Amino acid sequence: MKLNRLRNIALLLMLVSFAVMYLGVFWPHTVLPFTLAAGFLILMWAIGIYFRVGAVSMRLPQVECPNCHRVTKMIGREDGCMYCGTPVHLPEEQQGPR
Ligand SMILES: [Zn+2]
Repeated sequence: MKLNRLRNIALLLMLVSFAVMYLGVFWPHTVLPFTLAAGFLILMWAIGIYFRVGAVSMRLPQVECPNCHRVTKMIGREDGCMYCGTPVHLPEEQQGPR
């Protein structure tokens, strides 16, 4: 669930960056390079988040949701199910050392 939220934030940032770059077209020409640079930076940031979410999700513990019985990935010891939002707790044997 937290994973999905992070991914949504990254996608939203990408949209914002495109909007910023596009808005530069309507302002005086001197502003355009700045909006392009700002948009590009936000885009890089969003892509960075997106790839880190992907890399992190590879080594997250997987738990079967008690409600919908689908396998969901968890961030931390408590997280919501990715599909139905039910709070899921990590079983004792899967808890790594902190
Ligand atoms: Zn579920």
